[in-house]
Amino acid sequence: MPKIVYKAKPSPEEPVKKKVAHVLREAKKGAGDHTCHFPGCGKPCPPAMWGCKSCWFKLPKPLRAKIWNTYRRGQEITKTPSREYVEVAREVRNWVLENYNEDGTKRCPQ
Ligand SMILES: [Zn+2]
Repeated sequence: MPKIVYKAKPSPEEPVKKKVAHVLREAKKGAGDHTCHFPGCGKPCPPAMWGCKSCWFKLPKPLRAKIWNTYRRGQEITKTPSREYVEVAREVRNWVLENYNEDGTKRCPQ
């Protein structure tokens, strides 16, 4: 089996299909000590995944697409996400804090 070489630079041209396949393969290795990035969730979640399944699908589709677009295969291994990914992760976090309470329930519209 060829050794996977992870690119050091962002590769926005990389098809999302390839990234999905990578993440699903990596997810089989389990969560380890990595937890879901949804503020307040804390469930174990494979490092290749942004969050656990139930939290992931709480995010609006455009935000999920942004995560996929900026995610680089292997960034969870090299610990070198692109600046774009870090910015999107921050944007997602802010969206969650605006739309969800600390206990994970959805905020009522003001
Ligand atoms: Zn979660």
